[in-house]
Amino acid sequence: MSQENQQKKVIIVGAGWAGLGATYHLAKQGYDVTLLEAGKYPGGLVAGWQTSTGKSVEAGIHGFWYPYKNIFSLINELNINPFTNWTRSAQYSPAGLEVESPIFQQLPKLPTPLGTFIYTQFQRLPLIDRLSALPLLYSLIDFDNSDDAWQRYDFITARELFKTFGVSQRLYKEAFEPMLLVGLFAPGQQCSAAATLGMLYYFILAHQPDFDVVWCRGTVGEKIFRPWVEKITSLGGKVLAKHKVTDVIVDENNIIKSVVCEDQKFDCDAVIFAVGVTGMKKIVANSPTLQRHPQFRNLHNLGAIDVLATRLWFDRKIHIPRPSNACFGFDDATGWTFFDLNALHDEYQQQQETVVEADFYHANQFLHLDDQEVVKTVHGYLATCIPQFKQAKVVDSSVIRLGNAVTHFAPGSYRYMLRGNTVFKNLFMSGDWIINRHGSWSQEKAYVTGLEAANLAISYLQMGDFANIIPVEVDEVHIQFARNINQLGRNFSQSILPNFWLP
Ligand SMILES: Cc1cc2nc3c(=O)[nH]c(=O)nc-3n(C[C@H](O)[C@H](O)[C@H](O)COP(=O)(O)OP(=O)(O)OC[C@H]3O[C@@H](n4cnc5c(N)ncnc54)[C@H](O)[C@@H]3O)c2cc1C
Repeated sequence: MSQENQQKKVIIVGAGWAGLGATYHLAKQGYDVTLLEAGKYPGGLVAGWQTSTGKSVEAGIHGFWYPYKNIFSLINELNINPFTNWTRSAQYSPAGLEVESPIFQQLPKLPTPLGTFIYTQFQRLPLIDRLSALPLLYSLIDFDNSDDAWQRYDFITARELFKTFGVSQRLYKEAFEPMLLVGLFAPGQQCSAAATLGMLYYFILAHQPDFDVVWCRGTVGEKIFRPWVEKITSLGGKVLAKHKVTDVIVDENNIIKSVVCEDQKFDCDAVIFAVGVTGMKKIVANSPTLQRHPQFRNLHNLGAIDVLATRLWFDRKIHIPRPSNACFGFDDATGWTFFDLNALHDEYQQQQETVVEADFYHANQFLHLDDQEVVKTVHGYLATCIPQFKQAKVVDSSVIRLGNAVTHFAPGSYRYMLRGNTVFKNLFMSGDWIINRHGSWSQEKAYVTGLEAANLAISYLQMGDFANIIPVEVDEVHIQFARNINQLGRNFSQSILPNFWLP
């Protein structure tokens, strides 16, 4: 760590996975880093806190899937032990239990996607419906996460994609749409086909164990972010909560000199934005400097989705067969999940009451209901899945409304999303909605883009070591082979056909 490094100031805006990832790496390289966070606590969408009655709550339960290699590596580096073992999950509809997933890595490994199709235990969905997914495999081969593939698939909706490839109505309604509501937070007609293919491949189809998941044994805020922020602080990084960034100040060479935080100004050599789509739109709306550039004003074409996170404490112990459960068919365009916190969180393991988290995605119609109505609805839904909930009484509850909170990967949104580099040489972008080629999604993607932005800052400021980013596991051999053949065919047709048709 050189003296020169300590003189370079980097301001990071937003303390979610992306912002903390960038801050941590730059602090390790000896930069003078300040992380400005608008909220009361670090963590962003994963923040956790205590209610007035002293109960731990958070903005939804977060799973950590098998391919989250960079996050798992960070956890090792921090020398903490926040996670449960790999867990099994189930899926419910108003008709009852629909699907159970095994722990895929414990079963004999088959070439992808055979393991997913064969080992997933569908209770009701007929084989003929499941087989109707086969033609869709071509689009998984064709969509290789390249810029070209995103341009070709992003204008199509997921629903059109599934319809074009002959997916049955039942398979769409009972398998694909529930996955979209939980994975991309929106129903099929509102999801980009590119995002759909990228997300399904990453979480489910690239390798048999990909769908295996662990959870935190308490809130992520307590188990991961608290020790992580302590570590950042011990390295000299400053993490300032309740600091809302409103603008940037540039010099005559279009270099950002300061970040404005309401009535305070923070001078800097480089800036990393790590805020979500809605936060970024608010900053741009307030900043004539950013608005001058189409890439920033066009951000107003992007949208975000409402989410609702509820936690209910019941007066008795109820047996919930699996710790994590996804549900479909309760509302047309809303997906929801519920979690047995007695099984997942250390603090509830010995308790005689049942603690359940129920999170709703694309929850527009629930967001404006009062807490009592929300709790009544959640209780009713839980009782539909597991009848023993009918007799149980709710003794405490928490309802957290997250309006415009999560990224909407809408059809046609790709062209408005930003990349790590911007028109400002010393302003870099990160977050789960930033375009990169890593291939990960959600928390892992946010963290990876934070490291990528730190690397861009290091490259610009010419000091320190780059963060090591673990790539996603390579495609299996037969997938690589099919993708190569497909690319050859595509190159050949492009060489003889004019560039005339809509992509
Ligand atoms: C209910 C729910 C369930 C989810 N489940 C999962 C899951 O199981 N697994 C998974 O991997 N992912 C899950 N996700 C998605 C995951 O939370 C996000 O992908 C990830 O947290 C995004 O991190 P980020 O750093 O990009 O952004 P964020 O977490 O949104 O952080 C951005 C930060 O910027 C701050 N900010 C905004 N504006 C300003 C400003 N002007 N000045 C200063 N600070 C500002 C915000 O307060 C926030 O702290 C879930 C999300 C929700 C809401």
